[in-house]
Amino acid sequence: MPHPKTIAIDGPAGSGKSTLGALLAEELGYLYFDTGVMYRAVTLAAIQEGLDPMDEIAVGQVAQQIRIDVQPPSVNDGRDYDVLLDGEDVTWAIRRDEVNAYVSPVSTYAAVREAMTEQQRRVARENKVVMVGRDIGTVVVPDADVKIFLDAAIEVRAHRRYQELVERGKDTSFDTVLQSLKNRDKIDSSRAISPLKPADDAVVIIADCMGIQQVLKKARELIFNAG
Ligand code: C5P
Repeated sequence: MPHPKTIAIDGPAGSGKSTLGALLAEELGYLYFDTGVMYRAVTLAAIQEGLDPMDEIAVGQVAQQIRIDVQPPSVNDGRDYDVLLDGEDVTWAIRRDEVNAYVSPVSTYAAVREAMTEQQRRVARENKVVMVGRDIGTVVVPDADVKIFLDAAIEVRAHRRYQELVERGKDTSFDTVLQSLKNRDKIDSSRAISPLKPADDAVVIIADCMGIQQVLKKARELIFNAG
């Protein structure tokens, strides 16, 4: 298969973009980079420092100061990678409810986006990468060789996320998950800077009735045609 250098996958929470990205990266031998972990790490850092996550100036400063590293998994506990925040393993901590609640407001802050975008562009320059997020095809790597926008109905996405959480032993309800996704979708899509939306030249895949193998097949075709 010919190899384009950068594959951008964007879409809302629960659309399956992380699963798709991880599988494609493995298949191609590329780096898999889930940019959502960076916004989550900034949010967690602000909470751990006792800051109000709604304090834009303070959180913006935190984003400029912290170091976020993503590396191959060091523990066999279902994780795809380790996320380190200033050297501390926060792989599961960044998935906590309070991070879910604040990550979208934090992601609207210009200083936060600036700091994260710069680091993401460096990764894209230095690697063959499958990069997953909300603004990869529109803002972070607008010249990516392949751009996919993966979407699905909110109920389908909430159901998928609910199943994942239950499998991980989390005590939650479908309605709680649905409401959380709705809130994040709304903030992510309506923010002024880098809103969640397909790039003009992205291929939109609506995965309501598609399993991962079908989505993977479609993505492979796009990658093959771009090479
Ligand atoms: O992908 P994930 O659900 O982990 O992303 C968490 C949050 O991070 C999103 O809801 C969004 O607010 C933010 N995000 C972003 N831009 C990206 C990736 C994630 O604003 N490229």
